[in-house]
Amino acid sequence: MENVRLNNGITAPILGFGTYQISPSQTKAAVAEALKLGYRSIDTAQYYRNEAGVGAAVKESGLPREELFITTKAMTTGYRATKLGIDNSLTEAGLDYFDLMLIHWPMQDDLGTYRALEEAYQAGKLRSIGVSNFNRAQLGEIMANFQTVPVVDQIETCVLRQQTKLHQYLADYQIVHETWSPLGEGAGRLFNHPVLKDLAAKYDHTTAQVMLRYLTQRQIMVIPRSTNPTHMAANLNIFYFALTAADLARVQALDEKFSLSGWPSSMTLDEDY
Ligand code: NAD
Repeated sequence: MENVRLNNGITAPILGFGTYQISPSQTKAAVAEALKLGYRSIDTAQYYRNEAGVGAAVKESGLPREELFITTKAMTTGYRATKLGIDNSLTEAGLDYFDLMLIHWPMQDDLGTYRALEEAYQAGKLRSIGVSNFNRAQLGEIMANFQTVPVVDQIETCVLRQQTKLHQYLADYQIVHETWSPLGEGAGRLFNHPVLKDLAAKYDHTTAQVMLRYLTQRQIMVIPRSTNPTHMAANLNIFYFALTAADLARVQALDEKFSLSGWPSSMTLDEDY
């Protein structure tokens, strides 16, 4: 496993396990399998209603808590609701702290929401805080009002939507670029792309592995999701090969600067059409 260093000095695995759309009843088993396979970073959210399953799998794994990196996301807006929501998430998951908590998407009162996150960070309930689905203007507003710079911005990114403009902005402020839907939610257009299939054959790996390796070689955190143990293992097993500079350039050229999900629309403001 490779790690990234966050701007507050802590480290995080560059690859983790995504849990969106894994039902609350399936989550404990899926996360237990992920931990057994060697995943040490898990991404959940209040919105997914599966924080309890993540926490239960963590507890039953017997792994030392400090070896794990657990992320959740606030779906509340404003100071009071978010303060309550943080404590509720900790109770749901049965954890003393989260390693990272994000504002899930921009809403009405992001400054109030971030104030609650910063307060919980200072109180030790969160080891780091960040945002998700924030464009440059929205990040700029947070940074103009708080001393604590977000450690990551988790944004839709895959080889067809590489977010190069926002990536550079994030690098300038030492904010790690984290992707959601690194595999384009399983879109056939990615998995059957001739260039990716060609590279998969060349490196004797799968197209999914080539996509994840490309993103991690660009220092982008990835959190692929699968409940198929073969795919889960394959997605983790990407650090024994590396794309050459020429092949990185081939994948870079696939960028269509186009959102596969179309959400949230405020993110299109950062594309360089
Ligand atoms: P993803 O890009 O990880 O793709 C998941 C799909 O790909 C599933 O259908 C899965 O079966 C398939 N797949 C996975 N590995 C495969 C493999 N090796 N071979 C073939 N098929 C494979 O999609 P995602 O779940 O939308 O995104 C990953 C994570 O990002 C989520 O689980 C969640 O934790 C996070 N997320 C965050 C936001 C946000 O707003 N912050 C939004 C969406 C997702």
